[in-house]
Amino acid sequence: MNLFNNTGILYIVPTPIGNLSDITYRALKTLQEVDIIACENIQHTNILLKHFNIKNILISFNKNNEIEQSSYLIKKLKKGKTIALVSNAGTPVINDPGYLLIKQCHIFNIKIVPLPGPCAAITALSASGISSDRFCYEGFLPSKKKTRCDLLYSLRKEKRTMIFYESKYRIIDTITDIINEIGKNRHIVIAREITKKWEMIYSNKAEIILSWIKEDQNRYNKGENVVIIDGYQEPKKVNISENIKNTFSILRSVLSLKQSVLLTSKIHKMNKNNLYKYAIKKEEK
Ligand code: SAM
Repeated sequence: MNLFNNTGILYIVPTPIGNLSDITYRALKTLQEVDIIACENIQHTNILLKHFNIKNILISFNKNNEIEQSSYLIKKLKKGKTIALVSNAGTPVINDPGYLLIKQCHIFNIKIVPLPGPCAAITALSASGISSDRFCYEGFLPSKKKTRCDLLYSLRKEKRTMIFYESKYRIIDTITDIINEIGKNRHIVIAREITKKWEMIYSNKAEIILSWIKEDQNRYNKGENVVIIDGYQEPKKVNISENIKNTFSILRSVLSLKQSVLLTSKIHKMNKNNLYKYAIKKEEK
C-alpha cells in the first residue's frame, strides 16, 4: 500500500529568529530545491533568500488568506509539487499560520516533512534555568486585561513550567498581572531579543523583574519577549505533633489565638507561621 499516494511533499521549514547564521544547511537546500515557497510575507522572505543567494517562486500564505491558499497549495501538492512552508521567523505553525494546511495534508495523505530549527519558545526555555521536564506553551496572552487576568488566575496552580510570547507593548502589564494573579514571589524569566544584538535573559521573582524592567525604558520599549513562569509548587506539609497540639489547645483555652500561637511556638522552638496555619484551620472547623 502506498501511504502517500505519490503526491508532492510539504516541507515545514523553520527560519532564524534574529541571527541569520541560525539557518540550517538542510533548510537552505530545501528552500533552493522545492517548486514553491509559501511564506507569511514575501518581502521578508525575499530578504532571507537574497542573503543566501537563493532564487525561487514565493507565494503569500498568511492568516488572512490561509483558507484559500491552503486549497490552492493542496491542489499543487496533489499534482506532485514540492512546497516549503516558512513564516517570518522561527518554526511555522507555532503562533504562525500553517495548521489548516497541515491538517488537510493529513486528510489527503500528502507527505509532510518537518525540519528542525529555531523556535523562540524552546530556545528561551533551554536558557531559563527553570525545569523543562514538563512544560506548557500558552502562546500570546489575551490583549484584554480582564481576560488576561482570568487566564493567569486559572494558571496559578499549574505545576508545569509555562511559556508565553509577549510584545514590547504589553510586557509591563503582563508582569504586573502575573504578580497580581499568580504571586509576587513566583519565579519568572524574561528572554528578550534572543539571538539578536540586545539579547537579554533575566531570571528572578516576578516583583523584582518588574522593578528591574521599569528602571530603564530600553528594557521594555524595544524587542520581542518570551516570558517563562515557574510551575506551582505545593507548600511543604508540616506535621504538628500531638504534643504541640496539646500545648496549643491548653493555651488557647485561656489566651487569644495570636498569643497561643506565639507561646506554643516559643515553647516548642518551632516556626510560628506553620503553627498559625494549623491554628486557623482548627478554628475554622
Ligand atoms: N513561530 C515563531 C517561533 O517559532 O518562535 C513565533 C512567531 S510569533 C508571531 C512571534 C513572537 O515570538 C514574538 O512576539 C515574541 O514573543 C517571540 N519571539 C520571536 N523571536 C524572538 C526573539 N528573537 N526573542 C524573543 N522572543 C521572540
